[in-house]
Amino acid sequence: MRAYCCNNCVELYTGHTLAENAANDIHRIVDNLKNVKIYKYSEVAKRFNIKSYDFEHYIAPSEYGCTIYDPKKGRWLLFYNETKSEESIRFTLAHELGHIILKHTNDNEFNEREANCFARNILYRLPINDFYSLIDYIRNM
Ligand SMILES: [Zn+2]
Repeated sequence: MRAYCCNNCVELYTGHTLAENAANDIHRIVDNLKNVKIYKYSEVAKRFNIKSYDFEHYIAPSEYGCTIYDPKKGRWLLFYNETKSEESIRFTLAHELGHIILKHTNDNEFNEREANCFARNILYRLPINDFYSLIDYIRNM
């Protein structure tokens, strides 16, 4: 599981010229993905004419964010609660990005852990050379 997430992070980085530091650029990474539409919780609440509080507490599966895949349009809808702290938002976006990159189309414990693992790796990653040294080290254990 871990190796799979790590490899996906590395692929994302090597294919992405924008982000030198994902912790600062996670918004930009997500914004630039063509098949992902992002919505703030307040935007959804406004659209359905309900209070943000009600959306956050009674409708959304998480108070932080969620992602839904729309197979008809072949795109992902990413929702996040913009009232949380900047750090929480960053982690949420990275977590939801994990669901997208890892193509999670259903909700289960394994996918949640994998998305957390992805987020941790992308936000707090080792420099790439250290990463490969670590992999070599583990292989030789
Ligand atoms: Zn999740």
